[in-house]
Amino acid sequence: MSSPAKKRKLNNDGKQNGVQSKGLEFFFAKQRQNDGQALPSASIGCSNVPSSELTDEELARKLQAEWDQEVANGRHNDNQPPEIPQSMQNSYIESESPDAQPQPEPPASTMQEKPSKALSSTLTLQSTGMAEDCFTSSIPMDRSPLMFEPSKYTDSLKQHWEAEGGNASYALLTRCFVLVSATTSRIKIVDTLVNCLRLLIEGDPSSLLPAVWLATNSISPAYVSLELGLGGSAISKALKHVCGLDNRSLKAIYDKCGDAGDVAFEAKKKQSFTLRKPKPLTIKGVYQSLVKIANTQGQGSAEVKQRIVDRLLQDARGGEESRFLVRTLCQHLRIGAVKTTMLIALSRAFLLSRPPGSTVVIKRNSELSKLRKDELAEIWGKSEEIVKACFARRPDYNDLIPVLLEIGITSELLVRCGLALHVPLRPMLGSITRDLSEMLSKLQGRDFACEYKYDGQRAQVHCDAQGKVSIFSRHLELMTDKYPDLVQLVPKIRGEGVSSFIMEGEVVAVDRGSGELKNFQTLTNRARKDVDIGSIKVDVCLFAFDLMYLNEQPLLDRPLRERRELLKSLFIEVSHHFTWVKGLDATSNDSEAVLDFFKAATENKCEGIMVKSLDNLVDVPYTGDADGQEVEVVEKLSTPKKSKAKTKSRNRGGEGNDKEMGSRRKPLLATYEPDKRLDSWLKVKKDYNSSFDTLDLIPIAGWHGQGRKAKWWSPVLLAVRNEETGLLEAVCKCISGFTDAFYKATKQFYDDGEDSGERKNTRVQKPSFVEYPGPLPDVWFEPQEVWEMAFADITLSPTYTAALGLVSDERGLSLRFPRFLKKRDDKSLEEASTNHFLAGLWRKQEAKVATAKGKDAKEDGVQDDAVDEDVD
Ligand code: ATP
Repeated sequence: MSSPAKKRKLNNDGKQNGVQSKGLEFFFAKQRQNDGQALPSASIGCSNVPSSELTDEELARKLQAEWDQEVANGRHNDNQPPEIPQSMQNSYIESESPDAQPQPEPPASTMQEKPSKALSSTLTLQSTGMAEDCFTSSIPMDRSPLMFEPSKYTDSLKQHWEAEGGNASYALLTRCFVLVSATTSRIKIVDTLVNCLRLLIEGDPSSLLPAVWLATNSISPAYVSLELGLGGSAISKALKHVCGLDNRSLKAIYDKCGDAGDVAFEAKKKQSFTLRKPKPLTIKGVYQSLVKIANTQGQGSAEVKQRIVDRLLQDARGGEESRFLVRTLCQHLRIGAVKTTMLIALSRAFLLSRPPGSTVVIKRNSELSKLRKDELAEIWGKSEEIVKACFARRPDYNDLIPVLLEIGITSELLVRCGLALHVPLRPMLGSITRDLSEMLSKLQGRDFACEYKYDGQRAQVHCDAQGKVSIFSRHLELMTDKYPDLVQLVPKIRGEGVSSFIMEGEVVAVDRGSGELKNFQTLTNRARKDVDIGSIKVDVCLFAFDLMYLNEQPLLDRPLRERRELLKSLFIEVSHHFTWVKGLDATSNDSEAVLDFFKAATENKCEGIMVKSLDNLVDVPYTGDADGQEVEVVEKLSTPKKSKAKTKSRNRGGEGNDKEMGSRRKPLLATYEPDKRLDSWLKVKKDYNSSFDTLDLIPIAGWHGQGRKAKWWSPVLLAVRNEETGLLEAVCKCISGFTDAFYKATKQFYDDGEDSGERKNTRVQKPSFVEYPGPLPDVWFEPQEVWEMAFADITLSPTYTAALGLVSDERGLSLRFPRFLKKRDDKSLEEASTNHFLAGLWRKQEAKVATAKGKDAKEDGVQDDAVDEDVD
């Protein structure tokens, strides 16, 4: 299953190759066209009668008949497993747990032979729609982990699970999701996850990995393309089958709830019978079912997927299991357990718990409870650093979790789970600077490399000793198929003595003859997948800028100067195919040369320059401001305390700079730091302007325009992301910067269906993941895009709640005079600006005002002195 980022990228590359998931709205729009039609399969029993008019018994029989019909269609004979077309059989992963297998109802022939038995096992009417697992619900998972002893519960849990086949129940994970969803406190979210993970580590370690995948709303790492490929209609059908609803009642619930998960919750409440006794879901079983759905391809796959979805929803106990199952199936879990939260939770869980029989050293609750807050934070921090560093080097839970279970949190984890060929590491990122002078002052006293900032696609090229090549994108997706020309190039650029390597560079469209750079748009015209080397129309050149691994040795800890030396000396230039980024080594005394270099870069179709620290000057204190600089955090993950003093202490800008007082600055190193955005890499872009910050916002709603704009959406409501809660927090309404053509396109893209009759990317009800306390818009948008917005300034708002609690207890932030600049098609929703980033910009703005006031006061003081002197 893809993350939103992954999904968007896959869908975004011009060709739209990925399976387009259709929402429930789409399904209902289709239903509207056929309005009046009841459930399908009209040939069986009483199916011409609308389902709503049937008794439970009749409905149960009708549904059973439909199921039987489906099964009969899908199977050849009694003794075979559910039909899986030949084309899918290899990819069909074997289930470990019995409940994971989609076990169809007995085939029609069996039913005929033994009707009484079949009927007695399937047509028991049970009122289990809302039956929940009460024991699991009673576990106080949201306590502080220092007050929570998993061993108190694991024996009973195991007994409980024994009756259900031995593996941890999905009810446990659901309970965790319910508690996490019920709070916006980051601490509570982490605590709950930690406790849930500990129960699994101690109670059923084999369910830990699937639980982590499910909680992070994915089933595979980004570089393994495993897509569920389920449309909204599969979920609607399943809800109708399982809960005995017809189109009309399902639509009524959908109109009321708006969110597919909430629809499932309500639908389950209405379920008054089951066709057979539900088999309690296990974490493993659910995960394996998702993997099966994703692996099921080819002819007949829709039916197989539908059967698995039906089975999952049928076995879900109670509304909450149904809600989170459906959210998982829609790939939108919204529990705020994004990567960072999960890594923090894992690092704490493994500090406190170990699997049965393990002798790994762990900390006792009693031991940690005695510590001072800062001492505890230091312990948490160290463990977190190790886990995060591992995941940045090898971002795959399939690798991380087994090693954690085996050795716990030790520095050996970095060795056992470090950089690996053909597994992409998370790229190092650059911090934004406003202009050259800010950059020069940040890097004062250091040697740095200025490099052209090419406008292409970042590529991480892996090559092993056997010559196998893998190429990964900035978002870790495998794109070897997209660049067969680069794959073919690798043997030519690999100098003598180079056996294996991981290199990074920018792939740029070029004119093959002259080598002239072409713009990014040209590169996007290249096909995305399975590019045939003979039919390439867009030629590219790889401009290499880093080397992270060479001949089985990671180079991450070497300073850039050394890495660059190796990159330049050991690889061979191939004109207009492979070369190094154009660069200039300088210091802050070379401002004119740097300015000339910057101008040359922009004249050569580059976006600006990247400026990188060359050496590890441990003794040179870093004098830049804290934006983007890594800080050693003493007090990690404290909840944003809503006190004024704290507010002042947070007077720093930059994304993710929510780190608290007590931070110690680290020296600015020139090492390669995966997944970190540090000041050792600075971006200076040509379109930056010192008085001009921008935000990447998500359009979430619109109002009908006035007068000339009546047929379009104007204003449009935009939001920032809250990474902790998963909510989108509205921050402004925008009416400026749009062209008529843009208005028109936007109306077509976010279509309320009034004219066209088919709703697209919009919904009637406010989605529960949107936070906007203002007057209701005319339509809500499905979050789809990122728009770059300019603005005059950021203000404290009595209406908007964006970044509430980060700069003020009572007020959120809003933008004054927001102006649309451009769509950021290159950005996924996950890359839209966060509430913390917004708060950071506000603090920066306030600091500037304070400095300006200080300056004015000083100037006033000088004048006063002068006057005094005169007087004297
Ligand atoms: P980021 O990648 O930092 O999150 P972003 O997606 O907005 O931000 P940019 O601000 O455009 O990207 O800048 C970073 C990108 O610039 C890199 O990911 C890389 O693709 C590209 N780039 C071009 N030239 C270089 C270079 N010489 N060194 C590093 N990156 C470069």
